[in-house]
Amino acid sequence: MKFQFLGTAAAEGIPGMFCNCPTCKRTREAGGKNYRSRAQAIVNDDLLLDFGPDTYTHMCRFGLDLSRVRFLLITHAHDDHLTPSELRYRENGFAYLYGDKANDDSDYEKLHIYLSELSNSFLPPDVKNSAPLDIHTIKPFEPFTIGKYTVTALKAHHAPGYGALFYLIGDGEKTILYAHDTGFFPEETMNYLKKNRPQPDFVSLDCTGILGSCGPHHMNLADAAEMKQRLLDIGCAKDSTIWYVNHFSHNGNCTHDELVPLAEKHGFSVSYDGLALEI
Ligand SMILES: [Zn+2]
Ligand SMILES: [Zn+2]
Ligand SMILES: [Zn+2]
Repeated sequence: MKFQFLGTAAAEGIPGMFCNCPTCKRTREAGGKNYRSRAQAIVNDDLLLDFGPDTYTHMCRFGLDLSRVRFLLITHAHDDHLTPSELRYRENGFAYLYGDKANDDSDYEKLHIYLSELSNSFLPPDVKNSAPLDIHTIKPFEPFTIGKYTVTALKAHHAPGYGALFYLIGDGEKTILYAHDTGFFPEETMNYLKKNRPQPDFVSLDCTGILGSCGPHHMNLADAAEMKQRLLDIGCAKDSTIWYVNHFSHNGNCTHDELVPLAEKHGFSVSYDGLALEI
């Protein structure tokens, strides 16, 4: 399974658009991997995770062919993870999926979008009714099959009113757990994991607060280390599991370069924009 981090920041990006804090200053000086756009990832070339405001930039920067994406999993409708107006550019006229001009929208293979009912309520009607999109509302803890993937949405502790989810994704050979915008996983999710014991080959955990405090709806590095231990304690990982931290805020007071050695002490690698892995 191919997995690529496209964007690795929380809502405001690093550096923050209008920010002049010490972390953003050090980021601008150091450049490179320290720059982070809003969180998004892609599995192989056909399953996209989240659709935030940097999707277009990711497409250009990392040479993605988004016409090949068939499935889009949304964690929640905060606007750094779902920018619905951009979905309109998949309509006939804005996009020719097959190279030649399509006759009408009925020729289009639909993009299947999965999100919670609460997040779905944030989609504007013109997006919901757009012909080339097929929107599915999903519930946590009910696995479903899309193409070669088995997907299980898990409940996150994040933003009441959004029905925030995170995802366990298997392709028959490998399994990944992609989690951000979670505090410590809620009891229901831990019970599900304890009972079903998935053993992901790759786990990416929320690390929004890094070295700072971040409230209960996110985690910092110490929380991520604790969460990792809790998953190990219930048998939801194996010796060979690859652990990453991801989804960072400038409020965490730490650039990428500064974080790498600190995360390593807890057995984590650190995501950066464009990092592609063969899992
Ligand atoms: Zn976020
Ligand atoms: Zn800043
Ligand atoms: Zn959020």
